[in-house]
Amino acid sequence: MGIRDSASPAPGDDQPSIAIVGGSITGPTLALLLHQAGFTNVSVLEASPRPHAQAGGVIGLEHSALATLDAIGIPQREVVPFPSERVVAVHVSDRQEVGRVHTIYPGRNTGWHLLNTALLNRLPDGWLQPNRAVRSLTVTDDGKAQLEFARGQAATADMVVFADGRRSTGRRLLDPSRPLHYAGYVAWRGQLPHGLPELSDFTRYEPHSTQFNCFPILRKDGSIGVDWTFYLNMTGEQFTELLGAAPTQRTYVLPHQIGPEVRAMVLEQARRLLPPAAAAMVEATEEWNAAPIVDIDPPQHMVHPIGAGHAVLLGDALAPVRPHTARGANHGIDQAHGLSIALSQHLHHDADLGAALNGWQHRYLPAVHHALELGPRLGSAMGLGVTPSPELVPA
Ligand SMILES: Cc1cc2nc3c(=O)[nH]c(=O)nc-3n(C[C@H](O)[C@H](O)[C@H](O)COP(=O)(O)OP(=O)(O)OC[C@H]3O[C@@H](n4cnc5c(N)ncnc54)[C@H](O)[C@@H]3O)c2cc1C
Repeated sequence: MGIRDSASPAPGDDQPSIAIVGGSITGPTLALLLHQAGFTNVSVLEASPRPHAQAGGVIGLEHSALATLDAIGIPQREVVPFPSERVVAVHVSDRQEVGRVHTIYPGRNTGWHLLNTALLNRLPDGWLQPNRAVRSLTVTDDGKAQLEFARGQAATADMVVFADGRRSTGRRLLDPSRPLHYAGYVAWRGQLPHGLPELSDFTRYEPHSTQFNCFPILRKDGSIGVDWTFYLNMTGEQFTELLGAAPTQRTYVLPHQIGPEVRAMVLEQARRLLPPAAAAMVEATEEWNAAPIVDIDPPQHMVHPIGAGHAVLLGDALAPVRPHTARGANHGIDQAHGLSIALSQHLHHDADLGAALNGWQHRYLPAVHHALELGPRLGSAMGLGVTPSPELVPA
């Protein structure tokens, strides 16, 4: 099942072989959509022994993404343990609340671990191939895409879909003129190891030059906690010095990479900027991770010719967007849905594949361009990033 090791014989049917690189959210969603559409020769190649949350915590999914999950057999009740649709924006001055606004989110919140587990548990046997870090992409003499893995083996496929995240190998190989740019601030994340009875809505504290979000989360061990994200400005030089690599290299910072010096610095900012209840959450959380916020030029293509076939970029591999847009995982799921339709029209109705893929990318690129343009504006309005807006002083 799945892609063919270079040395092994061709499978006996005429199904296209599809290699999906990345086993987090976008990749397994596409695999399940393809399974449902009758594709049988699909592999999900994942670099790690088992996908793990990198900066993953609470993820807001809009209704279309939730409906796609429902359609592949993942009911909302399985991935949405806390059903509130409300967003509470708390305005803060001098660490005190000065007002709040309630809005309704057009979707619900899930958690990375819950969603990833639900997806991987449903993959057909043998489709997920862990420890397969893709390193390069070449073309064989008969026009197939050939993937080489860090451990030395190689495999061929008719189509390669890169869903390998913010620091995508696929993007580097297919679209090298679009490097990541550091946006000048970092999302620090953690999970308070217990719930807060008063917290049921997604709550956003908005002092100028920072933002603090929190929402309940069902933790990996089944207990209820509070997932929080604390955005803080930090220069690229500071990041590199304190976290050991440039922010466009270390695109996720794991708990063991956060030393006492940087922890003390973030805690000091929390005590200076946040209302005491929010600062207390940061302080009471032992283990943090972080994601430097990055930007990228808008993509012009999602589909790239490779030999006689195609390679495709999806989700964060295509373009990571600022978290304030809450669109990253939504894009990946929506794009996977559209791609599965294009491929299925080709398989079952003999549609021209090139035209179907072209139509697909023209439908989905505008949403990505919009989010790439919106994100920096939202960050700047909050006083975050390299071009923050000045703080508005009330008249
Ligand atoms: C603070 C924060 C808050 C967010 N909130 C939201 C939100 O509310 N709503 C929303 O929609 N999005 C949100 N996002 C964005 C969302 O988390 C990402 O868009 C989403 O995780 C992208 O999923 P993905 O599957 O495309 O990539 P990833 O989750 O990055 O997964 C990529 C996978 O590919 C694997 N991989 C990498 N390289 C290779 C290789 N060479 N070979 C094989 N495998 C490889 C990795 O191990 C990983 O498993 C948020 C992000 C952050 C940082």
